[in-house]
Amino acid sequence: MESNKKSSEFNFLEAAMVKRTELFKECTNIVVGDGNIDADILFVGEAPGRNEDLQGIPFCGAAGKNLDKLLENVGLSRKNIYIANILKCRPPENRDPLPDEIRAHTPWLLKQIRDMKPRVVCSLGNYATKFFMSLGDVDLMKSQPGITKVHGQVQELLWDVGGCERLGEDAATVVASREKRGLKIKLIPLFHPAAIIYNRTKLTPLWEEDMEIVKRECC
Ligand code: URA
Repeated sequence: MESNKKSSEFNFLEAAMVKRTELFKECTNIVVGDGNIDADILFVGEAPGRNEDLQGIPFCGAAGKNLDKLLENVGLSRKNIYIANILKCRPPENRDPLPDEIRAHTPWLLKQIRDMKPRVVCSLGNYATKFFMSLGDVDLMKSQPGITKVHGQVQELLWDVGGCERLGEDAATVVASREKRGLKIKLIPLFHPAAIIYNRTKLTPLWEEDMEIVKRECC
């Protein structure tokens, strides 16, 4: 399969910010999203892993198979949701995302949110949850409570998910936007499906309870 890194679909400002990062240079594919773009629910994970990088599809490895199973158990599938990640490219050896990488990659996620206008965003695990709870201010992520504390708690966010603006012609001139766009989002933090693999007995019932809340908020 040919890499999508040179796709002409990715000629917009937020993609240009991603293409300037080392992660882009090292990855095989950009992993944009999967599922139903018209759905009311957006799931957001952390970053592509090895399988996702090779196939260009989020959550297609072990964590993804578990996610599909967990969705099926509560009567849902990828037809009912859209799924994307904080980072669009795989970090080497699946290491944790760095603050500058989150800053460079999340404008693309925010563009997806502006385009999709989901009613509910389900953040999977600590990184996605802390990013949304900080309203995108990466410096504030460290001081946010962890997923064990906040999973299943609905948080109404009124968020300026402003786009980017161009001051010149090349990617180096892309800067954070002054163009303000408010968006009302119901954030529902969930355990990451990879964490559930390692602690099925304890976390599966909690995920199922949390998903009942997701379904109630959306349907
Ligand atoms: N874990 C994530 O957070 N995202 C993926 O796409 C795969 C595994």
